Amino acid sequence: MSNKPMPVMTEISAPFWNGLKEGRIQLQQCNACQAWNFYPRRHCARCLAHDLTWKEVSGRGTLYTFTVARIPTLPEFAGPDAQILAVVELEQGVRINTTLVGLAPEAIEIGMPVKPVRAQVKDDGTVLLRYTGADVALDFIDEVVRAPAPVKPDERPPRRQIDVGDEQALQALVSEAFTDWSNQVLVDQALIDAFAELSGDDYWIHTDPERARKEGPFGGTIAHGALVQVIMSRMQVPLPFEITGFTNMVNYGSDRLRFPSPVPAGSLVHSRCRVKAVERNKRGTQLTLEFNVHVVGQERPAVINDLVILYM
Ligand SMILES: [Zn+2]
Repeated sequence: MSNKPMPVMTEISAPFWNGLKEGRIQLQQCNACQAWNFYPRRHCARCLAHDLTWKEVSGRGTLYTFTVARIPTLPEFAGPDAQILAVVELEQGVRINTTLVGLAPEAIEIGMPVKPVRAQVKDDGTVLLRYTGADVALDFIDEVVRAPAPVKPDERPPRRQIDVGDEQALQALVSEAFTDWSNQVLVDQALIDAFAELSGDDYWIHTDPERARKEGPFGGTIAHGALVQVIMSRMQVPLPFEITGFTNMVNYGSDRLRFPSPVPAGSLVHSRCRVKAVERNKRGTQLTLEFNVHVVGQERPAVINDLVILYM
């Protein structure tokens, strides 16, 4: 679903990841010198004995250091909140790289007591270990990206009907103000791959996550601009009006089509629109709707499309 990098289990680290799935935090302790070890390894970091045993611990500790990453470390981590990268020192003395959740940046102090938060990040139960303040009521968060159910037509509020011949009412629709947001649509790698096959544009920046992560400017694959443009049909924008009294309605094309920012694979997008212009000419009545598609939480649009609809 999400394109965020996921932990890759190895034979050595599997007990740590499987323990997290089941709600346990486990560290390796050396049977020869009693030293605690983290990250998971084959031999003791202190005495080199190949004699380590996994033991359950509380996971509690203190904040060793942290930084607020206001620019996402990977595009997949872009969101309304800044990532707070942290190093936590556990009661056993080992240090763990993690991220802090449920804390405002100004409430964070080096040395503060912290406790673990299990964050489910994938449908298969994969859990990451995040941290929060010892007194914050948070033990588990669900971060799995799921596409929300589309809005059923009969659940939408009734719309004002405007006759295509009512020039004054049509002109009154022109506004700088956008509608509310549409439903959200998930742009995942499977959708991007399907569009690459359909369009013939299988450039690696869209289709090769490994290469895009290493060589691309966005830290991962991104959707084709044209893909994000066409899936606007999947986003039901809550237009407060409905034009009536015409014989034919055609999509007359676009006056302006721009792709100002990328859509990383795994993003949720939504859209909104406004009536930009109403014009009457020989062909009929032309309504120009400015549609903006955004990655959820991003201020800058990913697609701007001035769609022209012709009523005849
Ligand atoms: Zn040892």
